[in-house]
Amino acid sequence: MHVLESFLTEEHLRLREEVRAFAEEVVAPRVAGLEASRSIERELPREVARRGWIGATIDTEHGGMGAGHLAKTIIVEELSRVCAAVGAAVQASQLGTAKIIRYGTEEQQRRWLPKIAAGECLPTIAVTEDGSGSHVLGMRATARRDGDDYVLNGIKCFVGNSDIADVHGVVVRTGSGSRGLSAFLVEADAPGVTVSPHEPTLGLHGFSFGEVRFEDVRVPAHCRLGAEGDGRDIAYSSSIVYGRPNLSAVSLGVHQAILEETVAYCHERQLYGKPLYETDGIKHKVGQIQSRLLTARLTAYYAASALDRELLCDPELINAKYLNAESAIDSARTAMEILAAAGLRTKRPLERYLRDALHIFAPAGTSDIQVLRLAEHALGLSKGQYSQPTYGPARGTAALRPLQALPA
Ligand SMILES: Cc1cc2nc3c(=O)[nH]c(=O)nc-3n(C[C@H](O)[C@H](O)[C@H](O)COP(=O)(O)OP(=O)(O)OC[C@H]3O[C@@H](n4cnc5c(N)ncnc54)[C@H](O)[C@@H]3O)c2cc1C
Repeated sequence: MHVLESFLTEEHLRLREEVRAFAEEVVAPRVAGLEASRSIERELPREVARRGWIGATIDTEHGGMGAGHLAKTIIVEELSRVCAAVGAAVQASQLGTAKIIRYGTEEQQRRWLPKIAAGECLPTIAVTEDGSGSHVLGMRATARRDGDDYVLNGIKCFVGNSDIADVHGVVVRTGSGSRGLSAFLVEADAPGVTVSPHEPTLGLHGFSFGEVRFEDVRVPAHCRLGAEGDGRDIAYSSSIVYGRPNLSAVSLGVHQAILEETVAYCHERQLYGKPLYETDGIKHKVGQIQSRLLTARLTAYYAASALDRELLCDPELINAKYLNAESAIDSARTAMEILAAAGLRTKRPLERYLRDALHIFAPAGTSDIQVLRLAEHALGLSKGQYSQPTYGPARGTAALRPLQALPA
């Protein structure tokens, strides 16, 4: 058994096998078509959803798998190993579920979670705007109270699953300052909601993360998540507790694929009458990729399993995203050096892995933001941790168990 598998239960191992078989049999044959057409893949995320994998962390009472965060990591990792666009689509809707699990009223949870768990509904989280990005509080979209409704106006960009979602979790301004943001569940077919035409990006072909426009969209007040003013915490908690580990898992899957492709090439390529790995310096570079991958997986699994054990672990989640995103990009470059000209060929997958790895730098916070947040934790400047298991309104407070305070 691989040492990292000591983190995993029999259920995790079975799940990994199941997802890997699905990815190789169902997803892999579609990748070349997506790369060629650069079009949005609508069906594969639905097929994944129908297997229940969007609902990895939804409790069984609401029809979910109740399998936890490490299981979610494995699902996204295995899909991303074969196709990061599908991994990204799946994680985006798992991320969209977070706010309903943490902030939804019983009625909202009964309405949405079973549908999501059954694969009948793909949710998003729509926070980013052209003018804000890392500066979440700089957003301009608004919701104005009008009787029993709110009226939403604004444009959200880079919304994961923009084109295929059924319900958007939109964070907008209802007032001023950091307590002036609120979150709403808005059905994708509500009058006034439109998605801008698809603009292909450098990579992740098949995944849509485009612009969603809200023009005088009427949303009943009972579709607000949490209280007025909870929007910032809903955005931040979704990003820390789900966004960071989910994107760690996308990078991890791509990183694993990079190592496999590099190793295969090192055996296949003959240079100076012997396999490439026998050439000076090549083994060293392969070792560097392997080292980064082992460290990356360790941080991803450790952070996800800390969440499953209900430990406070914001720094571990942030670090996992930082380390996974950065090290997959570094390994893609090292692999490119090993394959040299062959790495540029589109008939090999390495150039796709490099392009896809670059996409994970920005979402759920760029690496600059991750190190900033880590510094705030180290300096004692952060005001609390979103990984607190009972974080959210009306859930009371739990006894906090900081990860750092555990006996060695
Ligand atoms: C694949 C993908 C999926 C996404 N999915 C979603 C989604 O589902 N929902 C959603 O709402 N958004 C989504 N996003 C948007 C994502 O959250 C933003 O890209 C991210 O917040 C960064 O914003 P930005 O790209 O506008 O960069 P900017 O904020 O414009 O940053 C520009 C540069 O400034 C640096 N910088 C910014 N602030 C600081 C600081 N305080 N200190 C030091 N440096 C700083 C950044 O690191 C970066 O180098 C997605 C993005 C991508 C690429």
